[in-house]
Amino acid sequence: MHGPALSVVIPCYNEAEGLQELHRRLVAAIEPHFAQDFEIVLVNDGSRDATWAGMVALSDADPRVLCVNLARNHGHQLALTAGLAQAAGELIFILDADLQDPPELIGPMLELIRAGNDVVYGQRRKRDGETAFKRATAAAFYRLLDRLVDVDIPRDTGDFRLMTRRVLNVLQAMPERYRFVRGMVSWVGFKQAALQYDRDARFAGETKYPLHKMISFAIDAITSFSVAPLRIASWMGVCAGLGAMLMLGYVLGAWVMGYAISGWTSTLAIILVLGSTQLMILGIMGEYLGRMYMEAKRRPLYIIDEVHGVRGARGNAVHQLHENIRERVNG
Ligand code: UDP
Ligand code: MG
Repeated sequence: MHGPALSVVIPCYNEAEGLQELHRRLVAAIEPHFAQDFEIVLVNDGSRDATWAGMVALSDADPRVLCVNLARNHGHQLALTAGLAQAAGELIFILDADLQDPPELIGPMLELIRAGNDVVYGQRRKRDGETAFKRATAAAFYRLLDRLVDVDIPRDTGDFRLMTRRVLNVLQAMPERYRFVRGMVSWVGFKQAALQYDRDARFAGETKYPLHKMISFAIDAITSFSVAPLRIASWMGVCAGLGAMLMLGYVLGAWVMGYAISGWTSTLAIILVLGSTQLMILGIMGEYLGRMYMEAKRRPLYIIDEVHGVRGARGNAVHQLHENIRERVNG
């Protein structure tokens, strides 16, 4: 099957208010470059508002819009993955639904692709309408990631990017469940370039990343690209060993000299420090073990309820499964 020149992929969770404006601005930004040769893949990630109805209306009015309804909320990165699996274009443009990433940047991004890059990612110069807390935590997160991870994951980027089909093909060959898509794209390699931009405030609605989601997003990112935290155990072991030798020298010395040692403070200090360190290390090992367990189950990454649009349903894990079973049953 021959796809369009461009697929735009947008994960949406409770974004009903902004959909119309998103479609209007997006189409206005793309048409000068691609005429009619593009598609827009909207993924409804189990929204609780009228997002799905809004998408269906858009798609009925504009045959270039394909919408995918997930069976429940799967989270931003898996919703994005579901959209990417439907994208048939030669170039893939990833966008947030809230217009924080200006779609008009498709022009300069396209130029960088024409100059021989396979990925052009948006890099935020400034962030409007985001709290100082969000900015500080984001900064700290990217710096930590930088230290722990061998892959060069650029700072201050989101999933806002334009990339070629061959990058998407590699992404699709990566089956992992804990997906940090921007890191996976960096991992692929080829030629990648940054495009600096100023991040706007949300057009409508509110952020879908409260603190606890940001923390688990950060842990997913680090654990899927690095085993450095596991090494903490070894380092702490070395430090504790050195400390133990000093302590032993002191204790034996004191014994030889015949001091009476009360010992309550030192004993408790040792128990507290070693006990909490061991628990923390167990926790880190548990994070990795739990992820291995979840990966080992090999469940489909997401469940598609319905694909609405001219192109209709294309292969997805569950439909495929039903097809296979039907074939087997019917001989
Ligand atoms: N999103 C999603 N599923 C979720 C959470 C978010 O599809 O469970 C989408 C959301 O609709 C938006 C994008 O992911 O298009 C980024 O979310 P948001 O703008 O809330 O993140 P922020 O810009 O605040 O980091
Ligand atoms: Mg946003």
